[in-house]
Amino acid sequence: MRVVVIGAGVTGLSAALELRDQGVDVTVLDAGARVGGVITTRRVDGFLIESGPTSLSATSTLESLITRLGLEDERVFPTPSAKRRFIVRDGTPVALPSGPASLLASRALSRGAKWRLLREPWVTPVRGAADESIASLVRRRLGSEVLTYLVAPFVSGIYAGDPETLSARHAMPMLFHAERRHGSILLGGIREARARAGVVRHRGITSFREGLATLPNAMAEALGGRVRLRTRVTTVQPHTEGWQVGVEDGEGRPAQIACDAVCYTGPAHAVHAIDLPWEIRQALQPIERLEHPPVATLALGFPREAVAHPLDGFGMLCPAVEGRTLLGAIFSSSLFPGRAPAGQVLITCFLGGQRAPEIGRMSTDAVLPLILADLQALLGVRAAPTLVQHQIWPQAIPQYALGHERVVGAALRIESEHPGFYLGGQWRGGVSLGDCLAQGQQLATRIVQERGAASGRSNRFSGEGAHRTPLAV
Ligand SMILES: Cc1cc2nc3c(=O)[nH]c(=O)nc-3n(C[C@H](O)[C@H](O)[C@H](O)COP(=O)(O)OP(=O)(O)OC[C@H]3O[C@@H](n4cnc5c(N)ncnc54)[C@H](O)[C@@H]3O)c2cc1C
Repeated sequence: MRVVVIGAGVTGLSAALELRDQGVDVTVLDAGARVGGVITTRRVDGFLIESGPTSLSATSTLESLITRLGLEDERVFPTPSAKRRFIVRDGTPVALPSGPASLLASRALSRGAKWRLLREPWVTPVRGAADESIASLVRRRLGSEVLTYLVAPFVSGIYAGDPETLSARHAMPMLFHAERRHGSILLGGIREARARAGVVRHRGITSFREGLATLPNAMAEALGGRVRLRTRVTTVQPHTEGWQVGVEDGEGRPAQIACDAVCYTGPAHAVHAIDLPWEIRQALQPIERLEHPPVATLALGFPREAVAHPLDGFGMLCPAVEGRTLLGAIFSSSLFPGRAPAGQVLITCFLGGQRAPEIGRMSTDAVLPLILADLQALLGVRAAPTLVQHQIWPQAIPQYALGHERVVGAALRIESEHPGFYLGGQWRGGVSLGDCLAQGQQLATRIVQERGAASGRSNRFSGEGAHRTPLAV
């Protein structure tokens, strides 16, 4: 069986590794000049900058991948102080409570909101499968202040999205199912965390000495010559007993690849660029319509003494009601070792998103003064940055909005009506890197099971007895 995987982001690489392990002849094609998709690690003037994702949550899939790839010695863990997370309240970063005892003393919530939070297990639960927005679920169970000061900024940190429009069921399945299964978000969260603790050796977040790019680079190395970069897929069409993938190399030279199955793992907004059969094109509409608001990251370096705040935490989130330009900032040099040269600190700021898309698209010259004003007010920054790295993601993260089941349903329908055509990526089974790794493996397992079982059957587009034509690649 020959499978072509389109996209060498973590979803595609994870699928390809699993396919290779199951004895499949797999080829990964990516239009870019490097693997990893949105993972963008760079070393500049002694700083290690992550302009895309900054850390990974430890999951069982990640743990086994790290072991298989021999990356244990490359791994770094957050410094102990990074457990502390700040939320901006009344113009000041305030540490979030880490447990019930610190909740009582915390300034992050008013006394009334704390009382409301602790009463959550006694709020009558909604049962059944009907979806609702994250905002509606949180308001109902935890109250408006928890939504404004805790959940909305957290949602903004993951999706750069709006809790009023995001689906609880699809964007925050843990919250949704905690209520449905355990009758309470708090009790469900505690039980789920206990269950996970036994499965995952290292809990919390992680990265690598030389940044997140270490992971896709090692995955690609393990795949060897199976990964082809600077190879843009332009067409995917049914062909005799399988599929024919049309590509263009960096110089625009076309070629064709025949395969038994093809798996698209690129972003939902990029699939329109591929020439596909009309029926697939039509069915893709809910997927192509997914919203992807722009997000920008602004990595700023400062001399340590130029920042009054001790930066003793993971970072800070800015609730919308605080009226800041900044969505949030990660204290990168406090989070993992080796992110800034001695005597310097690195702060990675996030801007834009659903809340302020126009800020996500602004030029460096326009946005830098606004962000420096926020950092001066919130962290006591009192010098010009020694490093500025601005990256705009015009279509950053897919929004799992209410009605997301139409997206999931469209993918399932396409796969069942067009055997051998598979779809995956950040828009389907969760946006986090851990979700994408797991999804890649699941896709590979399905391909092997379904295509293995189907071998001998002809493609529904092909005539009986059709012969495979010799192809250029
Ligand atoms: C700014 C930002 C910050 C984030 N922060 C975090 C974080 O801290 N932690 C976390 O867990 N997650 C984070 N995420 C989310 C996570 O990084 C992504 O969801 C995940 O990396 C997506 O991986 P993917 O493989 O599905 O897609 P991508 O990384 O987008 O890769 C898709 C690949 O497909 C290729 N491609 C597309 N079309 C074609 C074509 N026609 N031919 C050939 N190749 C094609 C592209 O070149 C690309 O390399 C962040 C995302 C962004 C944008």
